[in-house]
Amino acid sequence: MSTLEIRDLQVSVNTGDEEKPILAGVDLIIRSGETHAIMGPNGSGKSTLAYSIAGHPKYTITGGSVLLDGEDVLEMSVDERARAGLFLAMQYPVEVPGVSVSNFLRTAKTAIDGEAPKLRTWVKELQQAMDDLEMDPQFATRSVNEGFSGGEKKRHEIMQLELLKPKMAILDETDSGLDIDALRIVSEGINRVKEKQGLGVLLITHYTRILRYVKPDFVHVFVGGKIVEEGGPELAEQLEAEGYDRYVKGAGTAA
Ligand code: ADP
Ligand code: MG
Ligand code: MG
Repeated sequence: MSTLEIRDLQVSVNTGDEEKPILAGVDLIIRSGETHAIMGPNGSGKSTLAYSIAGHPKYTITGGSVLLDGEDVLEMSVDERARAGLFLAMQYPVEVPGVSVSNFLRTAKTAIDGEAPKLRTWVKELQQAMDDLEMDPQFATRSVNEGFSGGEKKRHEIMQLELLKPKMAILDETDSGLDIDALRIVSEGINRVKEKQGLGVLLITHYTRILRYVKPDFVHVFVGGKIVEEGGPELAEQLEAEGYDRYVKGAGTAA
């Protein structure tokens, strides 16, 4: 059982000319097996929240804390965050020419566990993960992110969840750019990992459609750098029907 605790998190971004305050005090607690959806308009700071927890150097923490099972995440290097059990989808977005998916995953697994996985079980797990995601076995031999389609990038993310077995995953716009079949396959993948591994999920999105497949336990409305309302899955339905207008007017500062 793990807990990710975000307390009064305040963050500014370095735009090149200034430190622009973006997060205005975010409070959120995620436990193993729970799915929290964060929904909000463009520019409200959702990705800033994800990048801050990931340790991206452009974002400066100006207040508050992030704890994983009581350990201070903000004091950890990016590698230490991964070893502590945090999965941040944008952590490895770059192309890695010449490094195959299969080698990349095995190297990441070794770094996270502190020892290489046993070859036989590893090969089986890799094949199973690709099968589950309806992927061509050839995929494992391709260079990481080189020429990947949107759907392949997302499937690669879910493979990482399946194989690296993090405690908490922060998925930013996992649904963007997916056609309906890929959305279903990726969503089923998230659900499988939740079920099998008790993964806690923070799912950031501005569409409700992924929430038809990955049922959130909690929905948080995010406007002007903070959470302005919280509810259950019904809140997502309401947002779909009504949009963010009434929150945006209330906050006064939405982009
Ligand atoms: P969302 O993900 O909700 O669309 P973001 O976190 O991407 O919102 O952005 C929030 C605000 O911070 C926006 O006004 C955006 O322009 C600004 N911002 C975020 N990251 C950067 C950055 N790296 N450089 C400059 N401005 C940024
Ligand atoms: Mg955006
Ligand atoms: Mg964003």
